[in-house]
Amino acid sequence: MKIGNKGAILVLSGPSGAGKSTIINAASDEIGEYYFSISTTTRAPRVGEVHGKDYFFVTKEAFEEDIKAGNFLEYAQVHGNYYGTSLKPVREALEEGKLVIFDIDVQGHRLVRAKMNDITTSAFITPPTLKELEKRLRERCTDTDEVITRRIENAKEEIRAVGEYDFTIINDTIAEAAKEFVIVAKAARLKQSREDEEAFIRHWLG
Ligand code: ADP
Ligand code: 5GP
Repeated sequence: MKIGNKGAILVLSGPSGAGKSTIINAASDEIGEYYFSISTTTRAPRVGEVHGKDYFFVTKEAFEEDIKAGNFLEYAQVHGNYYGTSLKPVREALEEGKLVIFDIDVQGHRLVRAKMNDITTSAFITPPTLKELEKRLRERCTDTDEVITRRIENAKEEIRAVGEYDFTIINDTIAEAAKEFVIVAKAARLKQSREDEEAFIRHWLG
């Protein structure tokens, strides 16, 4: 049983092409109600991506306005584009007691940890090897050779941050990775905020 109802954060990171979207989709029926944080980005939409569902796609100017206005919980430059998490919807979902899932890079994870460590759980998702990652990126057919090369180079750096995460999920088969993800999501929900903990102790002591 969870003590309070303040909501919790689950950060997922991992190289582009690791299978984060695939795993969330495969597990979504089993992890109960959650809010997926839709990021804002200046990168161009891929074929099939929908504004307001996959990302909010904006111009560099609009993104920089949002930075100035303090609208982001965190933001970073990844592969030469801006990506950021808007503060308002996350705050509202947490107030409603929801599990909020972020798909953000390793820089974003560090920033969320710095701000909301007590309610944050994190998992790093990766295919078994770099070679397999490259194969999946090529088979996904959504990026040019140049973009894939940049993502592979970035992945070689990102993997070094694997030790900063609570859990590692090796995405070998989708079914197995989704099963592990369900366990991690359940653990994330049980994480207590300090505020809830203190209120519980006062209540428990009577
Ligand atoms: P991410 O969201 O991390 O960028 P995706 O979920 O888009 O990654 O997955 C990248 C590609 O790899 C997709 O084409 C997806 O269908 C494929 N994929 C994901 N998991 C597996 C797996 N376990 N085995 C084979 N292909 C996979
Ligand atoms: P993609 O272009 O493949 O959708 O995402 C590229 C990278 O940006 C991934 O590592 C993804 O996790 C990260 N990313 C997506 N949204 C955000 C965000 O809001 N903040 C940060 N810091 N990274 C993000």
